[in-house]
Amino acid sequence: MRAETTHDMLEGALAQLDAVALRLKLDPGIHKRLRQPQRSLIVSVPTLMDDGRLEVFTGFRVQHDMTMCPTKGGVRYHPGVNLDEVTALAMLMTWKCALMGLPYGGAKGGVCCDATRMSQAELERMTRRYTSEIILVIGPDQDIPAPDMYTNERVMAWMMDTYSMQRGITTPGVVTGKPLLLGGSLGRREATGRGVYYIVKAAAKEFGMPFRGARVVVQGFGNVGSVAARLLHEEDCRVIAVSDRLGGIYNPNGLDIGKLLAECADEGRISQYRDGDRISNQDLLELDCDILIPAATAGEITEKNAGRIRARVIAEAANGPITPEADRILATKKVLVIPDILANAGGVAVSYFEWVQGLQQYFWHEHEINERLAQIMGVAFQQVLALSRKEQVDLRTSALMLGVNRVAEAKKLRGLYPGRHASPGSSPGRSWTLAATPP
Ligand code: NAD
Repeated sequence: MRAETTHDMLEGALAQLDAVALRLKLDPGIHKRLRQPQRSLIVSVPTLMDDGRLEVFTGFRVQHDMTMCPTKGGVRYHPGVNLDEVTALAMLMTWKCALMGLPYGGAKGGVCCDATRMSQAELERMTRRYTSEIILVIGPDQDIPAPDMYTNERVMAWMMDTYSMQRGITTPGVVTGKPLLLGGSLGRREATGRGVYYIVKAAAKEFGMPFRGARVVVQGFGNVGSVAARLLHEEDCRVIAVSDRLGGIYNPNGLDIGKLLAECADEGRISQYRDGDRISNQDLLELDCDILIPAATAGEITEKNAGRIRARVIAEAANGPITPEADRILATKKVLVIPDILANAGGVAVSYFEWVQGLQQYFWHEHEINERLAQIMGVAFQQVLALSRKEQVDLRTSALMLGVNRVAEAKKLRGLYPGRHASPGSSPGRSWTLAATPP
């Protein structure tokens, strides 16, 4: 991801919050508090590389809002990771958790590194040191990391082990997205892609769009994109193009996703697949299709290419794939955009299920997890839709209104610490007031 894009991402997230605050007539004090993350940690992560060199990576953990603690959010390994990006993503997580009715605040973490060029041993050493550096702020009732770009079950297992070794007690609840054997949940690996599939199907039904045979394009064939593509393919949608970071493959008659998955499990192999034509990531986004699923990274659809997008529906599987300027262009073209905090919320929903199962030491069947996921996604979709119709706003605005309003209400209920009547203690009878408006 490019640095300027990530900076814009924070500006975009703040602009979104400001616009929604205006609509909600949010208390100015609460609005101010929501614009700032509650806690940001920057750490250096010295790591021994396989060739004997010492590399020092920079890691981050940002906890945006702890009103509904613990906080929750993924960890990504990517060369574009920086404080602005992690802050914006933590803020999005706050709205997402509130929208889905989960008892979490938003957090995010990451290490600025190119995981695709590192060995498993290097990744393990870096992960363990990163976990040690952020150990003060994470924990099963404090802040719970999960996988995101270029992190997976294996990384979560190393994080859990490092935390447990330092605390002296095995603590599976410190992360979600763990391997099954270590207390992971059935269905977690597929949850985000499955959630995207449920939402796209619900939207097609609601807006009278034929689902079977719908032409689907998926950018990013990783954990999220590949699952969404497979489930849509199994439901007889025609997945005409998919890509990874090195390029894509296009076949107007539809790709055999099962075969593609079997042959191209390794990254970078998609463009070598034979049953279709090679296509660049930019051309892929502009293909004539019914459903476009950006499932790679932020800032992929900008004011530069939005005018050429020909999809009818875009489901944001990635976080922030559409810039605010592009959003406005797509609105004038009447493209239906299903926002990230709704479309990709399946992952955090099943992370919540994993956390609950772990706390109870009682594990559910996969069909129960998928049913509960379908239910939670369906309820959120209907709430977002109803508010968008009532307020005559797009789905992104209504999803944000729901999420932000819930957090603001919870903040109001808790009040501000210390409050107006708090005493400094040393001089009885005197009280002091805060200059800023308390909520
Ligand atoms: P992943 O690392 O498994 O896969 C990422 C995929 O995107 C890979 O195929 C990679 O090659 C491709 N890619 C990277 N840069 C690209 C580019 N510029 N153009 C095209 N393809 C590119 O990651 P993931 O877990 O599938 O996450 C994908 C997106 O979904 C991220 O934005 C992430 O924040 C978001 N997300 C993930 C989860 C989750 O549970 N994993 C949950 C919510 C949101």
